[in-house]
Amino acid sequence: MAERPDKAEFLRTIGYGENSIKFLKKNENPAYPRNYELWYTYSAGYNRELNQAINAALDRHGVIDAATLDRFYDEFVSPLNLSDRLGDVGDKMALEIAELLKRIEDSSGTVGEYGRELTEASNTLSKTSTVEQAKIVVKRVLSATQSMEERNNDLERQLRESRQQITDLQDNLEAVRTETITDVLTGLANRRHFDQSLERLMSSERQENSELCLIMCDIDHFKRFNDTYGHQTGDQVLKLVGATLKQSVKGRDIAARYGGEEFGIILPQTNYDSACVVAEQIRTAIMKKELVKRSTGETLGRITMSFGIAVMNDTDTPDCIIARADAALYKSKRDGRNRVTGEDALSKTERPAQVA
Ligand code: GH3
Ligand code: MG
Ligand code: MG
Repeated sequence: MAERPDKAEFLRTIGYGENSIKFLKKNENPAYPRNYELWYTYSAGYNRELNQAINAALDRHGVIDAATLDRFYDEFVSPLNLSDRLGDVGDKMALEIAELLKRIEDSSGTVGEYGRELTEASNTLSKTSTVEQAKIVVKRVLSATQSMEERNNDLERQLRESRQQITDLQDNLEAVRTETITDVLTGLANRRHFDQSLERLMSSERQENSELCLIMCDIDHFKRFNDTYGHQTGDQVLKLVGATLKQSVKGRDIAARYGGEEFGIILPQTNYDSACVVAEQIRTAIMKKELVKRSTGETLGRITMSFGIAVMNDTDTPDCIIARADAALYKSKRDGRNRVTGEDALSKTERPAQVA
């Protein structure tokens, strides 16, 4: 049998596929399509940044857990898919605009022709001495006007169509943009959007001499929950936390999934006392929720969360304020979890090095 022309492609890609399965098994990652895609991309080696990040993580920890895999996917793989799609929308938009310009150019040619026709008619009329001649000229003007009208109608219809297509593309673009800033599981802002927003809001609040607080929070004993009820039920809990956080913030506040089961809430124009109120509200809202497994109706008890709050100071960078909120969060954990701790409660040794 003759060798199929795509045999080489088959052999090359099946190798990547087999490798991906090996990596999934070795790291005990769930074989979800996106985890497979990530290991496939790693095996194929065409995303240098991803490979560097994975190699560094493997050097450090020996294995890559599902949370890290998620983070790498969001950081190194999904932006590529999205940029392809963005490029696609951009190309279509450019085509549509070129088409539109051509139509407008064509129509201005027609307008010019019509103008010339009218000038000529008026010149002829001024020299005309008989009614018959005048009648001929008027007939020509009438026919030119009619065809101008028809073309105008055509142009109007075409412009309407173009406007519709451009509006569709705009919606498309908006959907892609929302995806680039959203965490798929929880619907909250993703880590990238959190980082960008924190930088932007710190700088704008500083310029306006306004206060900004950062809350970092983390689900308590979530590993135990996952181990007991399974990763998928754990994912449902993450969704529930996402929905609660979304309900608890408003206006310019940004609630984000910072990583795995840790969340960050940026509160511009907010002082420490108000940030404490927000954190307390979320803490109590979460612990009040009784978890029920949808598929079986089984009661899974409740979860709690720990919180840390930091207030922006004059010399803060995003890393500094995150480090202080995180340190306060870990004090909440040490002190027994299910509580809110402000950075003021940190002892000198508990404060992160760069801000000690
Ligand atoms: P602590 O109270 O100290 O925060 O304990 P913990 O068990 O919550 O913290 P630890 O960091 O030891 O474990 C976090 C766990 O969160 C590990 C992982 O099973 C789980 N996790 C992280 N991301 C996800 C996710 O996307 N889905 C699910 N289901 N679980 C996740
Ligand atoms: Mg936790
Ligand atoms: Mg954690």
